[in-house]
Amino acid sequence: MRLVRFRHGDRIATGAVDAGSDEVRVLRGTFFEDPLPTGDTVALGDILLLAPVLPSKLVCVGKNYAAHAAEFGMRVPEEPLLFLKPSTAVIGPGDPIRLLPISRRVDYEGELAVVIGRLARGVRAEEAFKYILGYTCANDVTLRDLQKTDDQWARAKGFDGSAPLGPWIETDLDPNDAIVRTRLNGEIRQQASTSEMVFGVATLIEYITVFMTLLPGDVLLTGTPEGVGTLSDGDVVEVEVEGVGVLQNGVRA
Ligand code: MG
Repeated sequence: MRLVRFRHGDRIATGAVDAGSDEVRVLRGTFFEDPLPTGDTVALGDILLLAPVLPSKLVCVGKNYAAHAAEFGMRVPEEPLLFLKPSTAVIGPGDPIRLLPISRRVDYEGELAVVIGRLARGVRAEEAFKYILGYTCANDVTLRDLQKTDDQWARAKGFDGSAPLGPWIETDLDPNDAIVRTRLNGEIRQQASTSEMVFGVATLIEYITVFMTLLPGDVLLTGTPEGVGTLSDGDVVEVEVEGVGVLQNGVRA
C-alpha cells in the first residue's frame, strides 16, 4: 500500500492508495494513530503530492556503500557514521532544489529512506521492522565543497531543501534487496542494490536507538551508492527505489 500526503484544492490531507489503483482513499488524521478512512476518495491525478511525512529529524548514514566510500578514496567506517538533518531540510516531490551561491558544488545523493512508525528506543535489530511504517525515496543533497572544509556537516547537509522526500510511503518492500537508482536529466548516474549496504536497516535502527529516541514520522537515510555528481541550474534529478517509486525535483539557481 502507498501512503500519500497531498494538497487537493485548499486542503492538505493524508490518504492510502492500493497497488495498481489510482484512487486515493482519504484518511482522517496522521498515519501514526490508526487513521480511519473518511469515506472520501480522490483521483491520484487530481492531487498535488507533498513530502509524505514531516519528520522531527532525519538521521542519516554516511559511507554506507563501499564503492561510494572508495570514490572519495575512503574506507567504510567500522561503526555507522551518523549525522542529522533538521526538519526544515525537507521538500516534496516536484519542489525545486535551490542552489546556494555559497557553494560551488551541490551534489545529489540518491538513497532509500525508512519512515519510522512508532516511538523507538532501545530497539533490538530482530524487532526493528515492527517500528517501520514504510519506505520512500530521498535525495541527500550535499554542498560537497563545504562538507570538505567544515568539521561538522550542519551547513553542508542541513540547509533548507537538502532533503527531498517522496513521492509516497510504500509499506510493502524488502529494504535489504531493493534497487536504488538516480537519473540526472534522464541519464542513469547511480544504481545499486541495498543488499550492498555496509550496515542494513535493522542494524542501523538498533545502533541509533541505543542513544537517540526515534519518533513516529522520523526518517532514516541509509546512505548513497557510488556515482554522486553535481547539480546545475535547470537540471532534473530523479531518485528511484524499485518497488517504491520515483522522486523528481528540478534544480534552480
Ligand atoms: Mg548521503
